Amino acid sequence: MNLILLGAPGAGKGTQAEVICQHLSIPAISTGNMIREALKSGTEMGLKAKSFMDAGKLVPDEVVIGIVKERLAQDDCKNGFVLDGFPRTIPQAEALDKMVKIDKVIDLEVSDEAIIARMSGRRVCEKCGATYHLLYKKPKAEGVCDICGGTLIQRKDDHPDTVKARLEVYHKETEPLIAHYKKQGVVKRVDGQEEVADTTRLTLAALEA
Ligand code: AMP
Repeated sequence: MNLILLGAPGAGKGTQAEVICQHLSIPAISTGNMIREALKSGTEMGLKAKSFMDAGKLVPDEVVIGIVKERLAQDDCKNGFVLDGFPRTIPQAEALDKMVKIDKVIDLEVSDEAIIARMSGRRVCEKCGATYHLLYKKPKAEGVCDICGGTLIQRKDDHPDTVKARLEVYHKETEPLIAHYKKQGVVKRVDGQEEVADTTRLTLAALEA
């Protein structure tokens, strides 16, 4: 199954992508993670993307479209994939329409207020990238990664001002994608406002429907 997880930054796309990828044995593809990896390895693309990311802006379409095209051509995507964080603009969705047929788009809905509250508590391990939350997913020892012992930090793009900028970008650039995919009759709306377990149950039900 070829899937897209749509939703504002912080709506829980990454968490649900992991669940789906295990449930259906298909890869989860996160453009955000791929760009952060490129930045860590110091590639030219990664360095170019940094200023956009830090400001809460979108990386130019041609850059992300190129990354996704290469990734979808790999063998492990033959039986399907779940895209997390792509497409984020109409030109990206149009480019994707030319590459593959999308079977379902899960639209994770969460209010802006809930997103701001969630993202301010988010922490990430600077070494291995594992994610935590000061309220919902606490590490065993404060500030230390359970998995690798690395230091937990707040991503620059999770700072409150950047979150507000990212939400504005989401409403302007990404929300119109819901209408784009509704025309294709593939959108399933999922309430992402409650506990993670509830969202997971609703997401899995939406895959069956
Ligand atoms: P994410 O982890 O998905 O929230 O992505 C983090 C940042 O990476 C975003 O704020 C953008 O700067 C960049 N990014 C990720 N995916 C895309 C995309 N599809 N189009 C443009 N920029 C992206």
